[in-house]
Order: sequence, then structure tokens, then C-alpha cells
Amino acid sequence: MTVRTRVAPSPTGDPHVGTAYIALFNLAFARQHGGQFILRIEDTDQTRSTAESEQAILDSLRWLGLEWDEGPDVGGPHGPYRQSERKHIYKDYALELVEKGFAFHCYRTPEELDELRELRRAEGKHTALKQSDLALPEEEVARRAAAEMPFVIRMVVPEEGVCEIEDMLRGTIEMDWGQVDAQILLKSDGMPTYHLANIVDDHLMAITHVIRGEEWINSAPKHKLLYQYFGWDMPVLCHMPLLRNPDKSKLSKRKNPTSILYYKRMGYLPEALLNYLGRMGWSMPDEREKFTRQEMFEHFDLTRVSLGGPVFDQEKLSWLNGTWIREELNPEQFAQAFIEWGLNPEYLKSIIPLIQPRVERFSDVAPLAGFFLSGMLPINEESFAHKSLTLDDVRRILQFAAWQLDQQADWDKDVLFGVLKQLAEPLGFKIRDFLFPLFVAITGTSQSVSVVDAMGILGPDMSRARVRFALDKIGGPSKKETKRWEKEFQALQQS
Ligand code: GLU
Repeated sequence: MTVRTRVAPSPTGDPHVGTAYIALFNLAFARQHGGQFILRIEDTDQTRSTAESEQAILDSLRWLGLEWDEGPDVGGPHGPYRQSERKHIYKDYALELVEKGFAFHCYRTPEELDELRELRRAEGKHTALKQSDLALPEEEVARRAAAEMPFVIRMVVPEEGVCEIEDMLRGTIEMDWGQVDAQILLKSDGMPTYHLANIVDDHLMAITHVIRGEEWINSAPKHKLLYQYFGWDMPVLCHMPLLRNPDKSKLSKRKNPTSILYYKRMGYLPEALLNYLGRMGWSMPDEREKFTRQEMFEHFDLTRVSLGGPVFDQEKLSWLNGTWIREELNPEQFAQAFIEWGLNPEYLKSIIPLIQPRVERFSDVAPLAGFFLSGMLPINEESFAHKSLTLDDVRRILQFAAWQLDQQADWDKDVLFGVLKQLAEPLGFKIRDFLFPLFVAITGTSQSVSVVDAMGILGPDMSRARVRFALDKIGGPSKKETKRWEKEFQALQQS
């Protein structure tokens, strides 16, 4: 048997370090066994998936040196490797299960589903709905079908009992069927859900080992059942521990930059970042901290992954990166890497139109554009002195902007300006004043290029990190204030 592993990101946002982490362990396992590593794009959520996000994922993984043997851009014998191009495949599989009695059409409306769940909640029961809960009288089904009302296809799941899952790292995991919903397999628009598409593709792509994040453990019972229904062999499962913030909470962009693009913009070497990800839950037999990809693959042993949540700590990463920079680059290589990082034509092309109108001599460029080549900026309370804003105003503006930016998916500069303007008005600030603290946080001074242009170029994670850093510098809101402001912010979102 040839070992075949895969990473299956959904292109719904910035390329996540967690995706690179999972890709690395899948690649290491495949290489160690002389097998193949596949990249599959899971874009069945058409409203959230974008071509830009997919491209950024491919570029970032490749930048890190994670190469795949088959994938949407390189092709392969089991393609296409993008689920949106495989739409036609899934429906027949769903219908096959209906025919076999393992799945059923469900005409329930969202309101009815809410009611059914509410009812169960009131009875103190788990809210998982089964086929028996969802059933409608036959005439009603016929009526809804005749009226061409939307329907979904759901899988039959046992009402009770225990499901046993074998996991390479965790041994046997027991899960209660009572808590598992009659999962939707095919949505009313004919698109498959993650569960159906994922197992059909893993089967058709001959995946032997599914190495993925711990957050998917709860899906495993449904997947196991689907493999049984179809009569297919199930790949070996391995759920990796989640990356954590230094406070041990799940790594989230609210606390820690999560985008690979951020680490690239910060000037980490791809080899060092990959090395650091290789240390997440795993170590070399001799415990050495610095190792290359090749060294990792030579000594790899998946069963030695430890389950204690690995902490993704930027300080540790910076230290490791420093050792790479000092020990692995001679001055010439350093210069080359630095040029590629900050002075490459593509990056300069985005910056120059913003600064050219503002300079008289080339010697004006560095002071004006230095923040594009920086990490966190040398700012303090005095940087935020303003004729009509108090320091409390500044804190409030930065905090509200930080929350807004945390949930902002579309990073187009005009869209950014729009949402910031919408936030300024109800908070009682003129947009000019409202943008002042952001200018300082993002560019280091208020006399600079347009702040939304700058944010567009720096990207979401670097921008969010600078706003958070500024808040830390001037002292963010107290716990009490945070609670009060959070409520206010939520109310503004709903209005
Ligand atoms: N599309 C899923 C994700 O975004 C894949 C999960 C899996 O590997 O099964 O992570």
C-alpha cells in the first residue's frame, strides 16, 4: 500500500499557520513512507470561498517549502483537486445512500428546525435531531415536494449507543451517538456539505491517512458511518493537537497573528517558520531546536507527537529565526534574502504610487516609507497627542477599531474606509479625528500616506497587530470598560 496523505484547506480567508502546520506533518509522514502528499481545495462553501484566498494558500505553502505531488495547480491522476469542480460527483453518492435507506430527503424549514431543537432543549435533551424527529406525515412530504419546496439530503444516524473511533495518537475514542445530528449531506442548492465531499474525495483520491486538526474529532463518527454505508475502507485517522496562544487558548487572530502572510511581512525566514512549526508537539530524537525540513523528515515519527497543546509563541519563533539568520546566511545571502523580502519589485510597486507624490528627493523615501519595512513601531503615549482627542478617546477609538478589524474579512481599502466611517459616526467622532489614532498606530505618525492604503498593503494581520500593540502601549481598557464597550460594539453591529 502506498501511503497517501492530504491537506484540505477551505479558501475562506488568509492562509493560516495551522494549515501549514497540518500540511507539514502530512508531508513528513508521506515522505517518510515514500508516499504521496496531496493538496485539495475544499471550496463547497461558495459564499465564503474566494479565488484570492486559494491563491494565497498555495503561494504561502509553497513559500514555506511545502510541496505537493498532486493538487489543483499541478494536476494528478485523481483530479480535479478543487471540490467546486467535482460538484457533479457528489450528488450520485448521496442518492445512492438514499436508495440504500442510509439517507433521506428532508423538507423541514429552518423555523421548524429551530422549534424542534427548542422543544428538545426544554425537555432537557441534547438538541441533535434524528430521522425520527424530522419525519413529516407522508401527505405533507408529497405536498412540499409538489410545491417544489427546498429540501436537503440527510444521513441516518443511530439514535443511541456508542461510536468507537481509532485515532493514531489517542487510541480508542468513544463518542455518544445520541449527540450526533442526522447530518446534512447534500444542501438544498445541490452542493455537498464538508462531510460528504470530504469522505467521497478521500476515498476517490485513495487517501490512506487523514492527519488533521483536533477540531475535526467530532466529525469522525459521521465519517466512520459514511464509510460503512458505502462499504469503503476508512483511512487511518490522526487528530493533531491544536496550536495555542501563550495563554493556552486556541490560537486566534484576536490574540495572535495567524496568517502566514503576517510572518512573511514580519521578515521571518520560511525555513525558520517551518522549523518552528515542526516543533509544535514534536521534537527531534536529540531534542535539538534547530533543524531543516530534510532532517525532520529523516527522523520523523508521527506517534511521538505529544498531545499537550503546543504553544505558538512569537518570542520563541523570533529567537529561532535569529539563529537561522545568523548561522545560515552569509552577508551576501542576507542581502539577497532582504531584497527579496522588502525591496522586491512587487512590494515596491504597491508602495511607490503612495509615496512618489510626497517626496522631493530619494532621501525622503526611507523616513516616509520605513513603516512598510517594519514590525511594531516606536510609538508611545505622546505619539497620540491631539488637539481635540483625549487619551481616553484614543483608547476608545483604537479598541472599537480593533474589534471591527478583527471581524473584517474584505480588506479592500475602500471597504475598510466605509466600515471605519460607519463606526466613527455613532461613536460621535468626525472621521478625520477617528482616523488619527489609526494613522499613528499603523504608520507611526499622523503625517503619512493614507491609512487605509497603508492597511491594504500591510494586510489584515500586520494592521491588527499594530492596533493591538498601540493599545498595549497606551494601556487598553480595563476589564469593566471592556465589558461595557463590548456591549456597545455589539449593539452598533446590530443597528
Ligand atoms: N476543509 C477542512 C479544513 O478546512 C478539512 C478538514 C479535514 O482535513 O478533514 O480544515
